Amino acid sequence: MLKKLERIIPPPPPHMVGDGFRVHNFFPSSGIQNKQRMSPFFMLDYASPYNFPPSEKQRGVDVHPHRGFETVTIAYQGKVAHHDSAGNHGVIGEGDVQWMTAASGVLHKEYHEKDFSKKGGTFQMVQLWVNLPAQYKMSAPQYQEIKKEMMGRLTFEGGLLEVIAGNYKDVKGPASTFSPLHVFNLHLESQAEFILELPENFNTGLLAIKGSVTIQDQSVPSDHFALFQNAGSTISIKASTSATLLVLSGQPLDEPIVTYGPFLMNSWEEIEQAVEDFNNGKFGVLD
Ligand code: MN
Repeated sequence: MLKKLERIIPPPPPHMVGDGFRVHNFFPSSGIQNKQRMSPFFMLDYASPYNFPPSEKQRGVDVHPHRGFETVTIAYQGKVAHHDSAGNHGVIGEGDVQWMTAASGVLHKEYHEKDFSKKGGTFQMVQLWVNLPAQYKMSAPQYQEIKKEMMGRLTFEGGLLEVIAGNYKDVKGPASTFSPLHVFNLHLESQAEFILELPENFNTGLLAIKGSVTIQDQSVPSDHFALFQNAGSTISIKASTSATLLVLSGQPLDEPIVTYGPFLMNSWEEIEQAVEDFNNGKFGVLD
């Protein structure tokens, strides 16, 4: 049975995160306001292609904390660097992913990589906040740097499905996750068709990263997000142009969400504890 399209969401007006990330927030504020609607995915910030002029200063977001979830950065164009108080550091470029589990808490900073900053150029990126089940919110932080060549690959006539997390049939993604979820990049040549099968009860959406596609007879232009109903399991996609889609599908966590700035917990008591721990320096040290 076809998974029905609930709605096609155009990119909300962009805002700056720090001075390096010009993002459209598809959820949980502008596009999809319900904080549970895409659970376990809590936030989707999309930096649509934007040309940054050369700069000696590395643009980005300076040191800030996170607790209770994972930040997942997927690079499409440009390069992004990261440092955190757990001692992890990395640079990702086109097709690579940083999967940072903040869990009990880290400080980190995110910014344009040095050479990319100097030369300038087109920057395109996605940042997801993936919520953690209550039992893992206070587990130890971890960091996974996932290069493009590590992705699970399913090739087919006219395209390639790259599995970042979860699995597609028997193709597994390299990311380790704390609840059942799938994150894929689907690449299609112009006019290619693909039938995507995803669990009926998983919250599911597709972001058109490049090109435009037709999904179940409706046109989804680039930079638009297609949200699906939690009924049916088959999504029929035809590429109108050469296209790349980010596929998000996950089992809802079904736990209370209480959020305050960079903290994502289950209760106000836990938020107050996060603020107190942050103020007491328990998230570590990062220059
Ligand atoms: Mn951050």
